[in-house]
Amino acid sequence: MNTKLIEERLADPRAKLVAVTKKHTKEEVDELYRLGVRTFGENRVQEFLEKYDPNYDWHIIGHLQTNKVKYVVGKVSLIESVDSLKLAKEIEKQAAKLDIVQDILVEVRISKQDENKTGLDPEKLDELLEEISKMPHLRLCGLMTIASNTDDQALIAHEFDTMKEMFDKEKVKYPTMTILSMGMSHDYKLAIEHGSNQVRIGTALFA
Ligand SMILES: *Cc1c(COP(=O)(O)O)cnc(C)c1O
Repeated sequence: MNTKLIEERLADPRAKLVAVTKKHTKEEVDELYRLGVRTFGENRVQEFLEKYDPNYDWHIIGHLQTNKVKYVVGKVSLIESVDSLKLAKEIEKQAAKLDIVQDILVEVRISKQDENKTGLDPEKLDELLEEISKMPHLRLCGLMTIASNTDDQALIAHEFDTMKEMFDKEKVKYPTMTILSMGMSHDYKLAIEHGSNQVRIGTALFA
């Protein structure tokens, strides 16, 4: 475990740490918890369910299929990867069944790289937020993105800036939006400098 990085991230008030524990064991999750980490991100439902511990705080951060929604609603404090109306409707339906309000982020596809296929087309953001805001069992808490996987720092910075602008604009209309989730192991520093207030770090924590 990179205890130095963990301490540094936990002490930084600018951005909340979500420890991404995919491909790591429940024992490693427990170890992170002992080191003070409180929120864990998983990108696959099956793997999440194998590690799920109701005493911990969990986020779903990966692409979520509608048929798996019922397994996570009510168990995770935040679904970070809502990228379609179909998915939002299914979360609304399952949350209504449990009579709870599920917190969500909308994932925006900011990268134009071909391999980055997850997330909503930014041009469709207004329309989706409008629909989500009418759903009584969803709370729209902000936006999430994955920047381009490149060494081009200027490009990544530009993508983060674009997201920050989008976030600031939308939150005027939707004041429940408080979270801008961006930054991973290789780009979290840049993300925080450019307005992120929640980082999702995996690899670097275990290095
Ligand atoms: C895996 C993953 C991360 C963490 O990536 P690292 O490079 O391991 O820090 C963050 N966000 C999402 C959506 C992921 O799937």
